[in-house]
Amino acid sequence: MELLKNRIRQDGTVKGNDVLKVDSFLNHQMDVALFDEIGAEFLRRFDGCGVNKILTIEASGIGIACITARFFHCPVIFAKKSQTKNIAGEVYTTKVESFTHGRVYDVIVSKKFLGPGDNVLIIDDFLANGAALAGLIDLVNQAGASLAGAGIVIEKAFQPGGDRLRASGVRVESLARIKSMSEEQGVEFVD
Ligand code: 5GP
Repeated sequence: MELLKNRIRQDGTVKGNDVLKVDSFLNHQMDVALFDEIGAEFLRRFDGCGVNKILTIEASGIGIACITARFFHCPVIFAKKSQTKNIAGEVYTTKVESFTHGRVYDVIVSKKFLGPGDNVLIIDDFLANGAALAGLIDLVNQAGASLAGAGIVIEKAFQPGGDRLRASGVRVESLARIKSMSEEQGVEFVD
């Protein structure tokens, strides 16, 4: 998606060799007009797949998922980071290792909102090692729901998550795929 790649070139900043900061338009201040274009592009890619629910993870996926949901005319569920134990068995729960914070936390989705009748599109801002996506897929599987695929805004293709998930049969659509990046050279895209 050229518009997105140009925006990353213009406003993204690289920290170290593996963190891209896009705070000014994607995950702190949010450019909603750009999100509209992103939502339209996800619809173009997943149109006709029968998506009836969008699933993301808090916090930075929520804005993109909500705008995308306007194009699919369906609800959004966000997996919540939780300290609470699943005592009454009313939630699906999985563990996710945070790329940016380096720690493992539990995420939950209520059984009320996801079940065997659902066909889910997962949406997230970044794909790096794939832990967030793998956790969300685990929740979909626990619910007995179908997975239409995953729509990712920025995939760091030099990290292993995308290849691994595609090899396991998941349809992953990334709008910008980064081949390499550095503080000196900036960002280079796959195509
Ligand atoms: P993964 O689980 O695939 O390793 O990492 C995905 C999650 O980590 C995303 O939900 C995103 O919030 C965060 N993340 C991973 N890489 C980056 C990055 O380069 N920049 C930012 N801002 N967030 C990232």
